[in-house]
Amino acid sequence: MAETVLVTGGSGYIAGWCIVELLRRGYTVRTTLRSLSKEAAVRAAIAGEVDPGGRLSFFAAELTSADGWDAAVAGCDYVLHVASPLGTGVVKDPDVLIVPAREGTIHVLRAAIRAGVKRTVLTSSVAAAGGIGTEEVRDETHWTDLTRRGVHAYREAKTIAERAAWELVAAEGDGMELATVLPSMVIGPVLTAENLGSVQVVSRLLSGKLPGTARIGFTLTDVRDVADLHIRAMTMPQAAGERFIAATGFRWMAEIARILRERLGPRAAKVPRRGIPDWVVRLMSLFDPALRYVTPSLGHSNTYSSAKAQELLGWKPRPVEDSIADCAESLIAKGAG
Ligand code: NAP
Repeated sequence: MAETVLVTGGSGYIAGWCIVELLRRGYTVRTTLRSLSKEAAVRAAIAGEVDPGGRLSFFAAELTSADGWDAAVAGCDYVLHVASPLGTGVVKDPDVLIVPAREGTIHVLRAAIRAGVKRTVLTSSVAAAGGIGTEEVRDETHWTDLTRRGVHAYREAKTIAERAAWELVAAEGDGMELATVLPSMVIGPVLTAENLGSVQVVSRLLSGKLPGTARIGFTLTDVRDVADLHIRAMTMPQAAGERFIAATGFRWMAEIARILRERLGPRAAKVPRRGIPDWVVRLMSLFDPALRYVTPSLGHSNTYSSAKAQELLGWKPRPVEDSIADCAESLIAKGAG
């Protein structure tokens, strides 16, 4: 009989691709939604990639409540705990991110342990593996230092949640294994144009909403490769008890714009060509609070190493250029480009 996997937060970008990839590989998949009113839309988005047949079912559960998780996980062999609020920009109340990240991790892991799940894979983030503004190469031995001033609430939430997971499994795991996947900024094709999360940089460049490119950059990785790494971390014996960074390559915003122009030709006509000097971005941030999130990154690159996933699990991420182009193609196809 096919093994069964619970993927939390089926309406999400990464979770959606995890579901697609699990279905393609023959697994039976359960997923949770805060409200089952989204079921038809999520099912349709998944069906655009793979016919789920009778192998996909939905359960209602909210990260901040213990209700619903036991029913969702009953009979599952594995859990991919992906759901957590994605937070960029200005966050007025850090608890909006921290509470669901931490509480959700605890509720899901406890339910998984009670159900006798073999292994849970938690989607953490490179945000839990060190700060910005450092040129040092970050790997799985790094943790974000929460005692430093000005740590963004999202970094705090992801670090607290991942630490809570390791502590909980060490203390009360009852034999359930844990592995964590730490993606950098995830791009690649979208399943829907509903929630553009981390692909916004591509959609904004394409739609001409940005007047130019600021001197900021992103370490990118492809959503299909992130899904593949979750499944490797779920099944490969050597992945148990390990963290794995999923990061493919750093590109400046101006490079992303150039790749879009090269790969999309006339369809990238609105992609800006000029750069915006740092002092202009800083000046604009006095009036636009959203830009205050960006200014500390001006001129800084971050390097994360995925050597561990590649060497230990045989993970082979595709070139970043393909992820950028495929992301743009899917946004255009879904009317969001
Ligand atoms: P996303 O598309 O925004 O998906 C987030 C999912 O979490 C959605 O299904 C959302 O449900 C669910 N969720 C949020 N708050 C919830 C709550 N209180 N109760 C129940 N469900 C809740 O984001 P994503 O990019 O797929 O991110 C998924 C995971 O990957 C997160 O853990 C994120 O930290 C991590 N990650 C993402 C990136 C990236 O660049 N995208 C990079 C590193 C790590 P609704 O649809 O109902 O809102």
